[in-house]
Amino acid sequence: MPSQQHDGAPSQPSGGSHVMNTYARLPIALSHGEGAWVWDTQGKRYLDALAGIAVNTLGHAHPRLVAALTDQAGKLIHTSNLYQIPLQEQLAARLCALGAMDTAFFCNSGLEANEAAIKLARLHGHHRGIDRPEIVVFERAFHGRSLATLSATGNPKVQKGFEPLVEGFVRIPLNDASALQAVAQTHPNVVAVFVEAIQGEGGIQPAHADFLRAARALCDRHGWLLMIDEVQCGTGRTGKWFAHQWAGVAPDVIAMAKGLASGVPIGAVLARGVAATTFGPGQHGTTFGGNPLACRAALETLAVIEDEGLLANAAARGEQILHALRHAFAGLQGVVEVRGQGLMIGIELDRPAGALVAQMLERGVLLNVTQERVIRLLPPLIFSAEQADALVQALVPAVRAFLQSAPTP
Ligand SMILES: *Cc1c(COP(=O)(O)O)cnc(C)c1O
Repeated sequence: MPSQQHDGAPSQPSGGSHVMNTYARLPIALSHGEGAWVWDTQGKRYLDALAGIAVNTLGHAHPRLVAALTDQAGKLIHTSNLYQIPLQEQLAARLCALGAMDTAFFCNSGLEANEAAIKLARLHGHHRGIDRPEIVVFERAFHGRSLATLSATGNPKVQKGFEPLVEGFVRIPLNDASALQAVAQTHPNVVAVFVEAIQGEGGIQPAHADFLRAARALCDRHGWLLMIDEVQCGTGRTGKWFAHQWAGVAPDVIAMAKGLASGVPIGAVLARGVAATTFGPGQHGTTFGGNPLACRAALETLAVIEDEGLLANAAARGEQILHALRHAFAGLQGVVEVRGQGLMIGIELDRPAGALVAQMLERGVLLNVTQERVIRLLPPLIFSAEQADALVQALVPAVRAFLQSAPTP
């Protein structure tokens, strides 16, 4: 065993943990949850305003999800894509109907969905006779941590140490239609534009509706694919099934993951038109992707979103939180902007805000800070009006106290 020393004793990693040190973890462990509440192993209760980073769409232990998973686990968990998988067919049909798309490919995570989208775009280029296809990506984008997706990502910290990066990406600022137009002149090998409808890790930065429409028009003119990363902002989080639907654009490719199966690992690529038939047998694949358990969890998640009116709830709770925070922070020195759509909300401060995560943990709220200065709220879609109110009541005094104590920039 390579992890053991010659005498057979396990080598002693620093800190005594045998888990690789890829996360600076908070000092709590959660034991169980119910709805938007979770409890740690010491019995302390927290309001979950992060949902496992936009994953726990239905909150924790939703009775319908528990029943569906229990039932499915007793029937089939995995079969392999060597066979027909009726639940995968059903989920593909459902997602294509919701997104006005034609076909779906299922995988297990966001980076896998994006990796498939990147491969699809390159293959599309090769089909058009472009041997060295390029994809337009954006500053501050986040698409994952595989070599291709970290190369597409616009955060040097994610890339540092993993060079050489995968080539074939052209990066421009988000919402800069003239930069995109210029790329059309200078880069004849472009085959696709790849953009998050709302940047998540990038600090809750929306792609503007007029920018997405301009991108759609340029894609039409040049035969490029418009590929939208909906891994974080999709699955109803913004109050529509997909965040790009607010702009009324029709993408060629959509990547999904995070909240799609409410915590069971899944990723999906949806494609339309020429993109829907770009891949042929043997050109992409996965062992686990689209297995019966994950597909059942996704189908149940989508059904509950519909049956419980969770799109409308996400929109209403989002408005409630945005309105209350804007009111509370109006004129407060240190708060740069409160922005978002539905239950994807960012509060940008003028100074590093990472310390707030532990302070809010102390106050019994789970949230997160991204881009160093942006407090990020991603509550489950089942968040109630009372819970939204409780979140605001806890967050506002904490931010005020933080701004008084933390050094000004
Ligand atoms: C989280 C995220 C990813 C990566 O998803 P993983 O499941 O962690 O691989 C990709 N794109 C966006 C927009 C994300 O938020």
